Amino acid sequence: MGFASLVGQPDLKVRLGSIFRSEPGHAYILSGPLGIGKSTFAQALAQALLCQDPTPDGGCGICDSCRHFSHQAHPDFRTLLLDPADKVIKVERVRQTIQADIALRPQFGRRKVYLVDADFLNEQGQNTLLKSLEEPPDFVTFILMASGIERLLPTVLSRLTVLTLHRYSDEEVIEILRRECQDSGQPVPDVQTLTFHARYANGVPGAAIKLISSPWFSELRRETIDFYHQLGSISRSQALTTGFGFFDANRARADVLLDILASLVRDQIVIAMTGDPSHLTNPDQLTRLAIPDEKKRQAAVPGLMRAAAAITAARRGLALNASFEGLACHLLLTLRKELIHA
Ligand SMILES: [Zn+2]
Repeated sequence: MGFASLVGQPDLKVRLGSIFRSEPGHAYILSGPLGIGKSTFAQALAQALLCQDPTPDGGCGICDSCRHFSHQAHPDFRTLLLDPADKVIKVERVRQTIQADIALRPQFGRRKVYLVDADFLNEQGQNTLLKSLEEPPDFVTFILMASGIERLLPTVLSRLTVLTLHRYSDEEVIEILRRECQDSGQPVPDVQTLTFHARYANGVPGAAIKLISSPWFSELRRETIDFYHQLGSISRSQALTTGFGFFDANRARADVLLDILASLVRDQIVIAMTGDPSHLTNPDQLTRLAIPDEKKRQAAVPGLMRAAAAITAARRGLALNASFEGLACHLLLTLRKELIHA
């Protein structure tokens, strides 16, 4: 897998290219949000480092090393990832996979690569890894991945060269989604659906891929859109009964429900203030979200702003484990009041 075949991240590709074409350093960390593609780029770098005859674009894809790599059976490529049964990577596994193995020469080529998911290393695990990071043999390269490098010990971080993955443009996420659907044999959705998912995922393709193939998500989105349009016209008691019932039924996915609501309010603010529909998260909802009457549109904006703030506050409360009932009822009454013109 060459770097050119991967979508986006032009700056990172230049840096990765210069790493494997020269004498690579001992330890790198790919940093970026969950779902941004750290593993994909880490694998491409590992393959390029191990390849017997790399091209300017990365692993050649045809040598014995690349063939072993693509069959996930390369003897000099070791991974230390989370065991699904655990919450963290156990220290014992750091010892077995890395400490006990690091001094052994490569079986196949000139180099050994360790891929480590640093998000799941606790302090003890990091300290155990540190011993290997401090003085690795010349033939070893570490590739770590982390969605929050600030959680790493300064002693560990100081040993690593940080390579950052940035959020993708809408067009890039759409291209990744298209390829993902084609590769997994799913029908490719229409452009409006792809655009919604790209914008909703805020430039993180992994998040978009997860939701585009989730039937519950499209159902929850449809219900939330209908609910949103009723909010300005229901009574106070309806908000606390029917409205609360809707929230309660989706309690387990309340964060997603709030994100969908926030995207609708934001879109309505954007159309009301700019009249420009080109950057909406929900482009398929333009007709329902636009407020044709000029006076109503102006009157609606302050309320929409307060509604957006209330959703942000509820989102924060949810993250802090505040009472669900309290949050939901307060939010429903606020939305009912503030969306009256919308
Ligand atoms: Zn190769």
